[in-house]
Amino acid sequence: MTCPTSPLLDQAQARWTALGTATPDLAPAIALQRAFVNRTIETVDRLQQLDKPVLELEPGLAATKLRASTPALRGEVLELPVDLLGPLVFQACDDLASGGAGEVAQRVRNCLDAGRIDISSLLTASFERNQAAIRVKATHEGIAPDVLWLAAELAVGPAAHVAQQTVFAPRGEQLASTLTGALDAWPHGYCPACGSWPAFAEDLDAVSFLRCSFCGLQWHLNFAGCTYCGNDPAQLSSASIATGSPHRAQLCRGCGAYLKRLTVTSPTPFELLPIEDLASTDLDILAAEQGFGRPSLPDLDGPERYPCENVKSTR
Ligand SMILES: [Zn+2]
Ligand SMILES: [Zn+2]
Repeated sequence: MTCPTSPLLDQAQARWTALGTATPDLAPAIALQRAFVNRTIETVDRLQQLDKPVLELEPGLAATKLRASTPALRGEVLELPVDLLGPLVFQACDDLASGGAGEVAQRVRNCLDAGRIDISSLLTASFERNQAAIRVKATHEGIAPDVLWLAAELAVGPAAHVAQQTVFAPRGEQLASTLTGALDAWPHGYCPACGSWPAFAEDLDAVSFLRCSFCGLQWHLNFAGCTYCGNDPAQLSSASIATGSPHRAQLCRGCGAYLKRLTVTSPTPFELLPIEDLASTDLDILAAEQGFGRPSLPDLDGPERYPCENVKSTR
């Protein structure tokens, strides 16, 4: 179990308490989220203590990839600690089963228990953001693709976070100027580390950052158009829950997607991003009521795809 004195856990508890008091309807979602966030805090801690990094990437190569619009972690050789991450997929299924997904999640768990999905390739496919492979495999097995995708994502997200930190925030080292420059110049709405869309943007003083929904990377929002389709700012409008509210939803008439813009006093730690996402649910509802949605993962054409099959059964 996570150390009860973990500052992150204390911060999470305080946030949940405030959120549950302000919005009692969120109690079931908070209860489910507690399990996930607690495990994420613990897993990041354990991953940071591993001798072998999840991946190794030279700053110069990372910068070259960014300048070619390729997320830095894409296509790299991974050393995912399956013994550590694999059980998290099973636990995520259990939590989803008891948290409202019921039999649907239980069927995914049963499929995993039966060994019909190779956990290592599932984790790799999730890390690579290969939703198509996971969807095909789930459909083939007759289980819910969204549940399998979510369970794998919850398990491997901490590894993606630790991996992007080794590239973009190396401990005790200055980030190479070539990589800083390439990151600052990144002109896309998808994450320069893993290629996912942001969970939301954080507006901090006069600067805006996007926060990756998967690996948690923070990068400058350095263009005025739509985060998703790149349409010009004239296509964008804003909606907020109440006049004067610091948080808002940025709506794009071009692609029909929205981005939450949250005003913060400091960047949210990776482990606590889901809490702020949940805390701003009213903006999701507001955007949905106006006909806007969150887009599916960007299709970045590659790298090579993994079939997510149970390799043991084919040997
Ligand atoms: Zn990312
Ligand atoms: Zn758009």
